[in-house]
Amino acid sequence: MKPKKRLGQNFLVNESILPIIITAAEIQSGETVLEIGPGTGILTKELLKAGAKVFAIEKDFDLIAGLTKKFGSNKNLKIVHQDALWFDETTLSEYKVVANLPFNVASPLIRKFLESSLQPQLMVLMVQKEVAEKIVAKPGNSERGILTLSVEFYGDAKIIATVLKNSFRPQPKVDAAVIKIKPYKVHPGSVLWRVEPKLFFRIVKAGFAAKRQQIHNSLAATLRLPKDQVKDLLTRSSIGPAKRAEDLTLEDWINLSKTFESSINS
Ligand code: SAM
Repeated sequence: MKPKKRLGQNFLVNESILPIIITAAEIQSGETVLEIGPGTGILTKELLKAGAKVFAIEKDFDLIAGLTKKFGSNKNLKIVHQDALWFDETTLSEYKVVANLPFNVASPLIRKFLESSLQPQLMVLMVQKEVAEKIVAKPGNSERGILTLSVEFYGDAKIIATVLKNSFRPQPKVDAAVIKIKPYKVHPGSVLWRVEPKLFFRIVKAGFAAKRQQIHNSLAATLRLPKDQVKDLLTRSSIGPAKRAEDLTLEDWINLSKTFESSINS
């Protein structure tokens, strides 16, 4: 069958990365694992071997028959023919997400599960190396952006391994990396930080709208506020107005959101 580019079908053919993924996922026998895009089932097989109960969500109907044939009626596997972006994870109880993600929808899928009212306990994901580097970019790194903050707001992320592009068929243009994301026990929107995700991301998006400019310019232009007012809000949040969005820490963004909130309400 011809691989479908629009579905990000770069199938893993190098099995040496599989034990690394399985170890990183810390799978306990009987746990529920959501696998997005099982493809030919190379990772599915290892997840089942590790004792997981696997929900394998595959969008491509042409791959379903092959998967059913390969795994027969394994009672620990449920193959679901669906777009994972539409899968309702709240029908599960506890679960982990382990996947070699289709590159073209990796970011929206990561956000979907982190923003869910039923977050996964853990995510171990293969993504494009550039995407992984954006996700873990620390303050001061020009790769830091909205994607970084949309992960950092919800959990800890680290790169576990890089995977060369020749590990896939067809071979993609770029290398991949495995990332592990562990959602925080206490959600930032809850008692600990008391910040509304909606407001937080409005401020983050405004800050990154003109990434190369100083933060006060980007915020003032996007939020249509006088520069002096924005400078005052930044100073009250202990952030130098000349900084750039990429220099701000998660705490800076949270402080800034809170200062905005209190100034709106006063
Ligand atoms: N897990 C296999 C492997 O490691 O070789 C396949 C990985 S391949 C990078 C991505 C898989 O995700 C393909 O099987 C593709 O058909 C599937 N896919 C693409 N978009 C999807 C979506 N929105 N929901 C579920 N599966 C999707």
